[in-house]
Amino acid sequence: MLTFNRVLMLHCDQLQRRKARGNMEGALVARDCVGIQDFVLLDAFTSETAFLDNLKKRFNKNLIYTYIGTLLVSVNPYQELGIYTKKQMEIYMGVNFFELPPHIYALADNAYHTMLTEMNNHFILISGESGAGKTEASKRILQFYAVSCPSTSLLDRVRDRMLVSNPVLEAFGNAKTLKNDNSSRFGKYMDIQFNREGEAVGGHILSYLLEKSRVVHQNHEERNFHIFYQLVEGGEQETLHLLGLERNCQHYSYLVQCGTVNSIDDKNEWKITQKALFVLGFSEREIEYLFGIIGSILHLGNVQIEIDSKGYAHLSNKAELRWLTGRCIILQLLGIHVQVLHEALTFRKIEAKTEEVRRNGAVSLLSYLFSACLFFSCGLQVLSPFSVDHAIYARDALAKALYDRAFTWLVNKINESLENKDSTKKTVIGLLDIYGFEVFFVNSFEQFCINYCNEKLQQLFIQLTLKSEQEEYEAEGIEWEPVQFFNNKIICDLVEQRHSGIISLLDEECMRPGEATDLTFLERLEERVGNHPHFLTHKLADQKTRKTMDRGDFRLLHYAGEVTYCVIMQQSKNGIVKHCFPPTEVDSKKRPETVSTQFKSSLMGLTEILMAKEPWYVRCLKSNEAKQPGRFDDVLVRHQVKYLGLMEHLRVRRAGFAYRRRYEVFLQRYKPLCPATWPHWKGVPADGVERILKHLGYQEDEYKMGRTKIFIRHPRTLFAIEDAYEIC
Ligand code: ATP
Ligand code: MG
Repeated sequence: MLTFNRVLMLHCDQLQRRKARGNMEGALVARDCVGIQDFVLLDAFTSETAFLDNLKKRFNKNLIYTYIGTLLVSVNPYQELGIYTKKQMEIYMGVNFFELPPHIYALADNAYHTMLTEMNNHFILISGESGAGKTEASKRILQFYAVSCPSTSLLDRVRDRMLVSNPVLEAFGNAKTLKNDNSSRFGKYMDIQFNREGEAVGGHILSYLLEKSRVVHQNHEERNFHIFYQLVEGGEQETLHLLGLERNCQHYSYLVQCGTVNSIDDKNEWKITQKALFVLGFSEREIEYLFGIIGSILHLGNVQIEIDSKGYAHLSNKAELRWLTGRCIILQLLGIHVQVLHEALTFRKIEAKTEEVRRNGAVSLLSYLFSACLFFSCGLQVLSPFSVDHAIYARDALAKALYDRAFTWLVNKINESLENKDSTKKTVIGLLDIYGFEVFFVNSFEQFCINYCNEKLQQLFIQLTLKSEQEEYEAEGIEWEPVQFFNNKIICDLVEQRHSGIISLLDEECMRPGEATDLTFLERLEERVGNHPHFLTHKLADQKTRKTMDRGDFRLLHYAGEVTYCVIMQQSKNGIVKHCFPPTEVDSKKRPETVSTQFKSSLMGLTEILMAKEPWYVRCLKSNEAKQPGRFDDVLVRHQVKYLGLMEHLRVRRAGFAYRRRYEVFLQRYKPLCPATWPHWKGVPADGVERILKHLGYQEDEYKMGRTKIFIRHPRTLFAIEDAYEIC
């Protein structure tokens, strides 16, 4: 039992905290002007219009957060609202979830305290479309833990490293798109590891499918990855000189599409990235190599390819070539001669001997690059000249492979820096911030993967909330009125099913070199999945729809809307592992995997990681397409509310029980609240739990006793129990 002094301290502490936030609470909980802060409490109606009205009412008062039970809905305000201060963090530390107005800090704090109390693992799934605020939310959560978790001077270093991993990964993995000036072009899952004392002791990051095609091509008004502009705009004169670069983005063909953007200060970001690399413990040499690659890619992009008198490819920009082979640190170290580079970009190797490549530096970064560059140096037996198109493809493939490998190396280095080697038991909170669902005018292979990933996450959400919730009531023998919802498993299957899903069909086509084209792939799709209700091609469409498609397109009816994809086969095929990985890395007897198959496997792995943890959800909504502060576009928000399944979630929540715990767990935590159960309850746990609830004066309709768990209907009841516990 808590000592009397400890009880008194807890009580005073709580009173003080209450007093501190008193004004704020009073101002925010008032109902008419600011709507309802938890949709579960919306009175008798659960219509979409009422839902939207409530969101809008709150948004107009700068209240961007609303709960559906423990799920947090966030609407991007596109402006700083002063709600992420240290003072705000302190207000939310250690407070019961439903006591204060909704906030990302409340969710973070609750996940943290549940983890510590129950000593189990959690994850926070942050979802929403591109630009909805996922990355911002994940940064806020990390910052909250950095301030709120206890720490020691030794652990401060881990905390700082975790914080600065963000700007580095954003510099290399984010870019301006039409939807978002700082769009994540890779998926990120970060585990924050805590010891028993609740101190953050380490971290680990998993990255998913970087959109590497962006290195060589960007759509109109989009940019390459931030780091290129940071280097060119912000790099010190000496650095640029060393890398042979000019301070002019327009000089580089990989950057000409779009230069500076008002919302981005490349010079300043360069400083932040440099400092972050230093905090993360990168050596000077490693930083030099890293930017050596970025510089090399820019030079590579400027290698011009022209047609010679015989109609074959010919490299014309000798100065860039000389730079690349003569002065570029990385290629120098790899020992690549100008002639080899020339041949690699202009000739196709018919048969390659795997000849060992000379390596001067035993730096791990180089071994990554080495594999990307291997095809430069293989002993070439027969050479067949490239057409100009092929040569451009070879050049761009090398640039993409170099960048992709450098990014993987970067993530691994950050992980080394965040690693906690101590073998004591740790619990984790995982943060998942993965690219949002996106639809562009032209959607290619990358959008296909991104949207498939969102389908998978939606499926996970359905499994963990809507489906499992209903299954649990059934298993526990609780009376229940089933709620209908759209299950997107049918779309996941269309994409990923073995042998008959789009990815399998794509693999099959990619394995028929020389014969397969985008059109043969389309034909195969039509033949095998043409009848699927979520699939359409130009040929299969009715006359009206046909006008909106090209012959080479196919359309998927995703859970979040229709997307028309063009030519994904060529892009998937280009990424076949054998093109950029050395034979030692790929078992030559096995069929090489396509990028889409690799991606599918990594998503399966992610699903397994998440399924083993307790979920928390943040659903981010985009308030308007124009990125304007304070503008709430009803149609746009309504669409997101619909496809994110928020109404179904609300219906399940309202009809159900906000809280459930196994009897043993509940009893262990709350037994001090009732004389009959303290210090030991010798009977059946369920009876002990009932004794506690009765003792606290709860009515029978406020809870239900399942087979193994107690179910409590209303969060406020739970809140009162927690209160009683804290004051006890
Ligand atoms: P993507 O899928 O493209 O990576 P995203 O969901 O991660 O998109 P963010 O980068 O988090 O989107 O948000 C886009 C922009 O919206 C931010 O750069 C910021 O300007 C603004 N924003 C998002 N959330 C907030 C917030 N809570 N407060 C203020 N501004 C915000
Ligand atoms: Mg993002």
